[in-house]
Amino acid sequence: MSENSKPGSDDPQNAEEQELCSKCLAPNQPGSHFCCKCGAPLSSYAATGPFESLFAEGHLYRRATEQPRNLVVVLGVWVIFGTIALAGAAIAVISWSMSNLLGVFLGIASFALGAFLLAKTTRNYRNRPLHKDGDNN
Ligand SMILES: [Zn+2]
Repeated sequence: MSENSKPGSDDPQNAEEQELCSKCLAPNQPGSHFCCKCGAPLSSYAATGPFESLFAEGHLYRRATEQPRNLVVVLGVWVIFGTIALAGAAIAVISWSMSNLLGVFLGIASFALGAFLLAKTTRNYRNRPLHKDGDNN
């Protein structure tokens, strides 16, 4: 917190030392595990460290829900969060029959979360920009 170095500064000496993010090309401090701009994992440690792998996975889900580029990603999100939503609905119904109010709330919350992420991903996919950024290779 004491250091106040700007990650986007274009000091040429500094730029040589910086690592570029593979996703957004933002310069990062050497040895960083995550991109300071978009949060993409930069090192193999990011995928293997106990907490770091959680962040890496979170980044994957965030990218999948916010910028779905192809249908396979959307289908994957449907499988993952559709399962969560269905399980939540099932938990809510079963808990209701057992008059377990906490279970009903948890089930409804899981269902709402899954349904929300499905709707968001599907909407973002339908509204995705149609120009591709990788078509000049
Ligand atoms: Zn980045």
